[in-house]
Amino acid sequence: MSALVILGGGCGAPVDTTIDITHDPCAPLRVHAPAASPEQAAAITAATALWRDRGAPGIGLDAPGSIELVFATGNGAVRGHYDDEVGLIYINDRLPAAMLPIVIAHELGHAFGLEHEDDGVDSLMVRGNTTITPTERDEANLALLWGTCQ
Ligand SMILES: [Zn+2]
Repeated sequence: MSALVILGGGCGAPVDTTIDITHDPCAPLRVHAPAASPEQAAAITAATALWRDRGAPGIGLDAPGSIELVFATGNGAVRGHYDDEVGLIYINDRLPAAMLPIVIAHELGHAFGLEHEDDGVDSLMVRGNTTITPTERDEANLALLWGTCQ
C-alpha cells in the first residue's frame, strides 16, 4: 500500500480540459503496479481483459511499454484518477474489491484519451461508473482516436 494521498476531486476534476499524456491502446502495454497486492493485481488483470475485448488488444500484455498504476489512500468520494500531466493512474485502495476492475478500466479509458460521457449513456466512461464494462460505444470512441487496431 502506498502512503500517497489522492489530492483534489479525483476523476473529473482536471487541471485543464486536455488529456495531455495518452497511451496507444493498440500498442503492447503492461500495467505496471509493483506495489499491488495479489487481489489488486487480479483486478488489474480483469480490467485489462475487459479492454482487450473492446478495441485495445495490447493492454495488459507483458511488454516493455507500460502504464503506471498506484493504489493510494483517498477519501471515500474518490474512486480513481488519471493524472494526465504525468501519465499515472491512481486507484483508491479503500474501494471494495468487486468495484476495482471497472474503476481501473475507466481510468485506463482516460489513459487512452477517452473523456467522460454524459449520465445515462451506455459507456464505461460515465463519471462515477462502477457497473458498466467497456461497451460498443467505448470501442467506437477508441477507434475514432486511434483507428482500429490490427
Ligand atoms: Zn473518469
